[in-house]
Amino acid sequence: ERRIIEVNDLKVGFDIKGNFYNAVDGVSFTIDRGEVMGIVGESGCGKSVLSMSLMKLLPEKISRISGGEIIYKGENIEGKSEQEINKFRGKEISMIFQEPMTSLNPVFTIGNQLIEMIQLHLKLDKQQARERAIELLRQVGIPRAEKIVDEYPHQLSGGMRQRVMIALAISCMPSLLIADEPTTALDVTVQAQILELLKDVQTKTEMSIIFISHDLGVISEVCDTVAVMYAGRIIEKAKVSEVFKNPKHPYTQLLLKSIPKLDEEVERLETIKGIVPSITELRTDGCRFAERCPFAMDHCYTTTPKASEFEDGHVAYCHLYNDVKEEVVK
Ligand code: SF4
Ligand code: MG
Repeated sequence: ERRIIEVNDLKVGFDIKGNFYNAVDGVSFTIDRGEVMGIVGESGCGKSVLSMSLMKLLPEKISRISGGEIIYKGENIEGKSEQEINKFRGKEISMIFQEPMTSLNPVFTIGNQLIEMIQLHLKLDKQQARERAIELLRQVGIPRAEKIVDEYPHQLSGGMRQRVMIALAISCMPSLLIADEPTTALDVTVQAQILELLKDVQTKTEMSIIFISHDLGVISEVCDTVAVMYAGRIIEKAKVSEVFKNPKHPYTQLLLKSIPKLDEEVERLETIKGIVPSITELRTDGCRFAERCPFAMDHCYTTTPKASEFEDGHVAYCHLYNDVKEEVVK
């Protein structure tokens, strides 16, 4: 089947001091086989909550999906039992994070962690799984794989650990890989190598990727399409090239301006004044970017902008375009 995942009007929230707040508030998107979709936004915009909810990784005591649905290969994941989800993680969807040290177990060797994962999902004996582990380490560019396989995570550099995480994530050939800021903790050279590796793995395996980052520059290196998130909502979606050439939403335009240029000291998102509102103070009506938007109009504070469609699947949610028929926006 062509469609890997379909997310419809998804709402995910948390109980905070007796009240319920949605951190993800009505998000919809689809991903096809082999598609690499970026999700970009500042920290606190809901992008990690969104990705964790796709794998049902959020703590059930304090959080829940409060609306919408997640359809994975035609099946709603909502009804799946804990046991089914455990089988599903790693085999169908797997995830890599910013800091591999927290997802690698410090007391087991690299090899044992890979072997455990492989044996959980594939019918291989220990020796075969070990050979597969070494082969995977080679595949992710780890030198002397037959030696590294018996080492512990702390014996490796940050970049090597992230390679190990990628090996773990792809060990059972998932259809979808979720990469949440996978290169943010790494220095620029290593970051470029890891992005290169992800692209390489993606081409060879045809897996789909959701690539989460606060950095549009990084997104542009690896993604075909991008969804820009702000305060729990997607505010613009398009092909990456289209977003760079023709950003529609004022927030996207500011994000583009804040991409650090080579040889220039990083200013990043500080160039957008103000901060993302915390989830306890999100407005339900109106545009959540209004307080920070240089173009805000009165009705931006009271009426939620609807989707305006442009060429080639490009969509933006902003009042500057909502009245496009009357006002003739170029
Ligand atoms: Fe700015 Fe209004 Fe568009 Fe929101 S809807 S981004 S406040 S112009
Ligand atoms: Mg995050």
